[in-house]
Amino acid sequence: MSSCSHNRTKELASVDTLRGMSRFTRRHFVAALAAAPVLARARSTEPRVLAFSHLHTGERLEVEYFSAGSYLPDALDEVNRLLRDFRTGDVGAMDPALLDLLHALRTRTGSRKPYEIISGYRSPATNRMLHERSSGVATKSLHMSGQAIDIRVADVPLAGLREAALSLQRGGVGYYPGSNFVHVDTGRVRAW
Ligand SMILES: [Zn+2]
Repeated sequence: MSSCSHNRTKELASVDTLRGMSRFTRRHFVAALAAAPVLARARSTEPRVLAFSHLHTGERLEVEYFSAGSYLPDALDEVNRLLRDFRTGDVGAMDPALLDLLHALRTRTGSRKPYEIISGYRSPATNRMLHERSSGVATKSLHMSGQAIDIRVADVPLAGLREAALSLQRGGVGYYPGSNFVHVDTGRVRAW
């Protein structure tokens, strides 16, 4: 993963290219730069698709959860059901911003595989049980508010997934190489 240095190289290249341009093409280039925010806005309304494979239930889901500038309630319901507390069957409401985080992470890594789910929503009862078993589980876990998920993905090394998640700066990133997963959440930007 060297997306940062890669971007820097591209930036330097475009400055050099700009210098070498005739006034005519340069004007066009500047016009293209001015149009860039418009393109970025257009991209933000593009459909967003996510794919999941739950490691505990064996369930799979590929779903377009955002389209024409809106979250799709039926799709969010399907996601909530898949990411339910598999121990108790309780269905929580996952934070749509977490889905956007996963979508951005997928774009950043270039992964083509579904997210493999270790843990999504956790009911208070499950979280209490896990907390009693392991000091690594917080009493006020963001899993209980649908703001956290534990994942891995088959076509990205775990360390690369972690690096990509850190580079997004969208919330917490926990690295658990011993259990082979990365925790991401939409809480404060922090890492452990
Ligand atoms: Zn977690």
